[in-house]
Amino acid sequence: MAASYPTKIILAFRSGGVCAMPKCARHLTYNSPTGDDTYVGEAAHIKGEKPKAARYEADMTDVERDHIDNLLYLCTDDNTIIDKVPADWTTVKLLEIKTKHEMQVRQAMELAFADVAFPELQNAVAWVSNQPPATNGSFDLTAPEEKIKKNALSNGARNIIAAGMMSRDTVAAYVEAEAQLDSDFPERLKAGFLEEYFGQRKEGYKGDELFELMCAFAQRGLRKQADRTAGIAVLVYLFEICDVFEK
Ligand SMILES: [Zn+2]
Repeated sequence: MAASYPTKIILAFRSGGVCAMPKCARHLTYNSPTGDDTYVGEAAHIKGEKPKAARYEADMTDVERDHIDNLLYLCTDDNTIIDKVPADWTTVKLLEIKTKHEMQVRQAMELAFADVAFPELQNAVAWVSNQPPATNGSFDLTAPEEKIKKNALSNGARNIIAAGMMSRDTVAAYVEAEAQLDSDFPERLKAGFLEEYFGQRKEGYKGDELFELMCAFAQRGLRKQADRTAGIAVLVYLFEICDVFEK
C-alpha cells in the first residue's frame, strides 16, 4: 500500500510544499498556470512500508503505516538516502525532523498573516475572474467557535483559524473593494471554494482532513509565503462568514 493522494496533499500542505530534510529546501510542487498543482514530493514512510524495508515494524497495521503521522514529505534523493542508509536515519531522528519541519512551516504561515495586504490577496484569488458565481448559499454570520465544533476540527485547525482571524478585516475590505468593481466577485469567490468543498465531501472527507485539503486548495498555484498565507486568510474569512463548511 502507499499513502492516498489526498493524504499526500495534506502532507505537502503541512510541509509547505518543501522537502522536510534540513538544508534541502527543495520546492516539490509544480504550479500549473492552467490547472491544479502537482505534488512531486514523495510521502516517505518513517517506519517501513514492507518487510525488509528500512525501519519496518511488524506489529503495525497497513493503515498505521500509511497514516500521515508516519509519513515524511521528501524529494526523491532524500527518500532514497533514508532507505539506503537507515543506520543514519533512525525512526527517532526522522520523527524529530518531521515534527520540526511541520512546526516551522506552521509558524511561518501564521507569522505571515501580518503581511497579508491587498497585493497578496489579489494574487491569492486571481482565479476568481474565471469562476462563475454560486447559484445558492448565503453569507450569514456564524461564530467561528460554534463552527469549529460543528465541523469536528481539532486544535491544529483551530490554531490556523485563530491566526487567520487576524487578517479578517483586511480580507473583508479587499472583498468589498473588488465588489465595487465587479458586483459578482464575492459570489464567484465563494463558488470556487464551495465547488471544492462539496467535491471533497462527496469523496468522504470531513473534519481536519477536509479542512487541510481546503487549505491546500486555497494555496494552489502560489509560491511566496505571504501569498500562500493570503490564500488561507481568504479560506478563514469564508469559514467565518458563509457556508463553506458546516454552519
Ligand atoms: Zn530533499
